[in-house]
Amino acid sequence: MPSPVGHSLAGWVIASFRSRSLKPVNLKRIGLYAFIANAPDLDFIPGAMMGQPNLYHHGISHSIGAGLLFAGAAAFVIKLQSGGRLLREFGYMLALYGSHLVLDLLSMDGRPPFGIPILWPFSGHYFMIPILPPVKHSVLDHATMAQFLADVFSLHNLYVIGLEIALTVPFALIAAWCFRKTPAVNR
Ligand SMILES: [Zn+2]
Repeated sequence: MPSPVGHSLAGWVIASFRSRSLKPVNLKRIGLYAFIANAPDLDFIPGAMMGQPNLYHHGISHSIGAGLLFAGAAAFVIKLQSGGRLLREFGYMLALYGSHLVLDLLSMDGRPPFGIPILWPFSGHYFMIPILPPVKHSVLDHATMAQFLADVFSLHNLYVIGLEIALTVPFALIAAWCFRKTPAVNR
């Protein structure tokens, strides 16, 4: 899996494309988008409450089925609160959730069953296309909180975060070039 920084940067790029600007025209939206781009990793929480953060990680929260459910619910709440167009909000929510699934799919996973069940509920098979280095959070399902945190705050993870920033900046520059003559849209 990439780091929360990598997932948040993906959320920022999607927010920038929506606003047609790299400038933070809507900080609340950028925060919301960064949160949703990290949402599948909320599966760390039940394990962390039991002292073993990896216990339920990379389960069905990392699937297109969960993405469709989450995007539908989030779009409905957004429509109720701000009156946006349901289908457009659904599309953005699905893109954010999907960005997490794609980045995790492309990352090396050192812990069986390697990869993510991205096609659930259509298939329970785990898939992985390991072209990105993973962020470390221990390879043990039953890793204690201390083992988990020792890996999370490692030099290796600092390197991965640097790489994620280096890989994201070109997309940000492309977006900046595309939008250079377009007024920012706060919608
Ligand atoms: Zn993940």
